[in-house]
Amino acid sequence: MDNRVYSRPLRVSFGWACLIALLTAGATPANGRPRPEAPAPSYGAYVLGRLAEACGFGAGVQIGRAPVSVAEAIVIDDQETILYNARALERLDAETGTGWAAVSVIAHELGHHYYGHAAAGVAGVAADDVLRCELDADYFSGYALGRVGASLGDAQAAQRTSIAAESAWHPPSSERLRAIEAGWRDGLGGLPLAQVPSCRMESAGPAPAPSACDPGPPTVAPLAVQTGRW
Ligand SMILES: [Zn+2]
Repeated sequence: MDNRVYSRPLRVSFGWACLIALLTAGATPANGRPRPEAPAPSYGAYVLGRLAEACGFGAGVQIGRAPVSVAEAIVIDDQETILYNARALERLDAETGTGWAAVSVIAHELGHHYYGHAAAGVAGVAADDVLRCELDADYFSGYALGRVGASLGDAQAAQRTSIAAESAWHPPSSERLRAIEAGWRDGLGGLPLAQVPSCRMESAGPAPAPSACDPGPPTVAPLAVQTGRW
């Protein structure tokens, strides 16, 4: 599953063109056709599997390489799918200096599925609501990375790069960083995923500090980050 190379889907319930991807549209091959890429990237499936286990969502989501800008969450024939551009993710890791950056992008796309954005699509959705969806996915990304062992800095690394620059179609970077942080704190603290992340952004407190007397919530196995494996 993880080594499939998808073409631009011909039949899609609706494709969510992630804003972070739109801002790097130059990475998409000019002819829009899929290109064979080898070797089989088992790492992509591993990352998704760890995130799904940590969040209790995503086991049924399929993942594969495709000639997208960076990554997208789409629905193909009722199948929730994440597509990613391996080279773009590896460039992101190189720019940030951490393999967590690409992981956070995959987690962000998984968040679009969790909150139903990809299935619902963006047709007819008000611009403010589209931006809110981005913040929801950012919250999910932070939550997932907090659960699998990333530091807050690692969870926010991708958002601090040039590809995440603020625009009219992009939430202010400060809000995105705050959404990631709110999710990260909830994930680290073992709280359930917020169904309305904006509420957590307003009320998120300091990060919990596990101690010998209060070790905190059960943790999940950390994700072993690698680079150059996408
Ligand atoms: Zn997005």
